Amino acid sequence: MEYKDYYKILGVTRGASTDDIKKAFRKMARKYHPDVNPGDRKAEEKFKEINEAYEVLSDPAKRRKYDTLGPNWQEQFGGFGAGRSAYRSPFDFDPSGPGFSDFFEALFGRQAGMSGGRTTVRNDFRRRAGDNIEQSVEVSLQEAYTGASRTFSIQSTEVCPICRGTGITGTRECSRCSGQGSLAHTKRIQVKIPAGVDNGSKIRIAGEGQPGLGGGPRGDLIFIVSIKPDPKFERKGDDLYTDVEVPLVNAMLGGEAQVITPDGRKLLLTIPPETQNHSTFRLAGKGMPRLRGEGHGNLYARVRVVLPMRLSEEERGLFQQLARSRGVEV
Ligand SMILES: [Zn+2]
Repeated sequence: MEYKDYYKILGVTRGASTDDIKKAFRKMARKYHPDVNPGDRKAEEKFKEINEAYEVLSDPAKRRKYDTLGPNWQEQFGGFGAGRSAYRSPFDFDPSGPGFSDFFEALFGRQAGMSGGRTTVRNDFRRRAGDNIEQSVEVSLQEAYTGASRTFSIQSTEVCPICRGTGITGTRECSRCSGQGSLAHTKRIQVKIPAGVDNGSKIRIAGEGQPGLGGGPRGDLIFIVSIKPDPKFERKGDDLYTDVEVPLVNAMLGGEAQVITPDGRKLLLTIPPETQNHSTFRLAGKGMPRLRGEGHGNLYARVRVVLPMRLSEEERGLFQQLARSRGVEV
């Protein structure tokens, strides 16, 4: 029975990290996948070999055992009957399981590939999920405040059902997809924008990403939110800040001012007498809804005192009187 150098098969060094091994495996598996090389027995053999190497090197326990035994494994292991071919006949290719070499089975037992292999190998490549697609979406503060629903037109690609992604039927270019291997079409999808989203929030639409390989599930479409700057509100986390204009007389004598929320609700704010310019009042629970968790942040109203213009003679007199009373030279 032949010793198999799994490191060489994957083209990695003996010190390679699990990550490096995974990357090398993915790269090679993509190249030699039977879906990409239909009818190519050599590619199929190679694909099995890659799967087997990955099965061993990606599993710390198996890798340790393999490393410990080394090329002289048979001496330590006792003679195992040679004679069977390294692989089962390629015609037995079973898309549901990888099929391991005698070397593998001698080392790890017949069932080893079934328990670990089914999950790691199948999920990792045989049925590889498609990649996610990320797309940015601009949301107004009002939409983020109330939550919204929007329709998007997206370009969706499907693996060509005729050539199964190879672009070739028989010896000719696939006529259905013109050799592209995939078919594109425009699709309209309804997207719910949850209340409370902020810059960088992600909205995941499951199954609208790139198609999977080997019957694997599609990836997801992920919208990354950016919030349009709002002229009226400044946002800090779940809190909102807005300016409220208060006429001078109300700032001095007290009164009420109107604060409008992002969704257009009008709130009445009591202005106490002698309110200073830039004083800030908190409207508890009137800020942004919390994306995670209950309730809302706060809305802070910053007072902007508005001085009167176009004074009448009488008003001018009143201010002069005020000035005298305050001992101010005018
Ligand atoms: Zn096609």
